[in-house]
Amino acid sequence: MANTNETATVNSPSGVGGKVGGDKYEAVIGLEIHAQLQTESKLFCGDSAAFGGAPNTHISAITMGHPGTLPKTNKKAVEYAIKMGLACNCEIVKDNYFARKNYFYPDLPKGYQTSQHTTPICKGGIVPITTSEGAKDVELNRIHLEEDAGKSIHDIEDDYTCVDLNRAGVPLIEIVTEPCLHSSEEAYQYVTEVRKLVQWIGVCDGNMEEGSLRCDANVSIRLKGEKSLGTKVEVKNLNSIRNVKKAIDYEIARMIAIVEDGGKIVQQTRSFNADNDTTFSMRDKEEANDYRYFACPDLSPFHLTDEFIKGIEGALPKLPKQLIASYQNDFGLSAYDAAQLCDEKETSDYFNAVAKESKNYKAIVNWITGPIKQYLNDSNLSIGALKLPAKTLGALIQLIDEGKVNFSVAATRIFPVLLQSDKQPLQVAEELNLLQVSDTNELEGWVDEAISKMPDKVAEYKKGKKGLIGLFVGEVKKLSKGKADPKVVTELLQKKLG
Ligand code: ADP
Ligand code: MG
Repeated sequence: MANTNETATVNSPSGVGGKVGGDKYEAVIGLEIHAQLQTESKLFCGDSAAFGGAPNTHISAITMGHPGTLPKTNKKAVEYAIKMGLACNCEIVKDNYFARKNYFYPDLPKGYQTSQHTTPICKGGIVPITTSEGAKDVELNRIHLEEDAGKSIHDIEDDYTCVDLNRAGVPLIEIVTEPCLHSSEEAYQYVTEVRKLVQWIGVCDGNMEEGSLRCDANVSIRLKGEKSLGTKVEVKNLNSIRNVKKAIDYEIARMIAIVEDGGKIVQQTRSFNADNDTTFSMRDKEEANDYRYFACPDLSPFHLTDEFIKGIEGALPKLPKQLIASYQNDFGLSAYDAAQLCDEKETSDYFNAVAKESKNYKAIVNWITGPIKQYLNDSNLSIGALKLPAKTLGALIQLIDEGKVNFSVAATRIFPVLLQSDKQPLQVAEELNLLQVSDTNELEGWVDEAISKMPDKVAEYKKGKKGLIGLFVGEVKKLSKGKADPKVVTELLQKKLG
């Protein structure tokens, strides 16, 4: 790398998100995300589409592309692609077919990949993101269906490459943006949103480590104000959102350095090295690969009826953006609280369930983002594994609202017991003798005792030092071992002290 200064500029904390090369250059980024669909079987046959398994056990003659075998399109995979298209406001294309993209590679047993590359099932569309610069709709070019390839494994044998074809034929959607992103921060937020969305609607598990979600980043630079696109490089197979960001930051800096040195960008396919956060060239991109696309003669073209699409649309869950708005409008939550609940679908599902039991919506948020989150973090669990039925949390919140226990006692003493048993909050409070006393007759004894203990303070209070009320309340709390209801105690004290 010729110019490390530029790298420093881009990677410096203030440059995060890529305000590149001062104001001279603009980065242009387009992302291609491959998402494995969570179907049980593969795209064109009944072989298991599950991740892993002993090598070459999820394969049949169809996955292997043996002559005379007949593939059939998996309807669920088509449904999932449409689901994602609808969630992104795409136009759904009704007449579809699959084509063969011919090339040779050891992990591609058929000698071609079956793909919709040139005739996608979903066109256009948007994915809303928020960055430090504000809100933006990332424009999609398309979402198309295709099959995954197998895996070549180079590090098991010294002299050989091993091939595992379990993944060959697993259904993928490829989600392709327009070249409309201009910083690594935008790219980071976009991949975060897409990952959340596929999980939200249940079409992909979003697991980047296992490769269920993979991202290729296309990056170019141009002078600010320039309209035409610069020469791009494509960084392949980024397997974490942080690496997407790092690879883009590195590429932008590398390209600026080259151009500033009077050099020219070469169109390349590159790979990211996570050991030192750099990228390296895999191959210069040939002018145009000729894959000899043609419609697959073994697969019938398929037509989507309005009814089929409507059915999928009707079953779509409320999306994060809609839910965030409805939490603010219908439940009076702040934008921040609403967004927190929609970080994960499981969290909003739990909130929705509790909101049927209690109308104290803010209290529900406080429980979810407070004691519950803490507990889940400490025990490394997801909220789906939480053993606290919505009804029980609703009852606990009600107990607090009725003044029978206070929040801190509920969080530290009652909540842990509820997680370990099927008991009800009131029962636990009674068993542990934690119920607050709000009966005036019972409270009067403690109140009188507190007053008689502090005659000087009483005198000061009567002279107008009303702030002393807290001191008396505290004393009553102490005498009652925390069980006195502070609200009723305060009223009683005010009456008695005049
Ligand atoms: P290819 O045929 O090389 O795959 P495409 O035109 O299909 O290229 O685009 C692939 C991705 O690259 C898309 O996300 C697109 O937005 C992006 N892209 C295309 N040209 C550029 C460019 N000059 N700079 C950055 N991204 C680009
Ligand atoms: Mg490409």
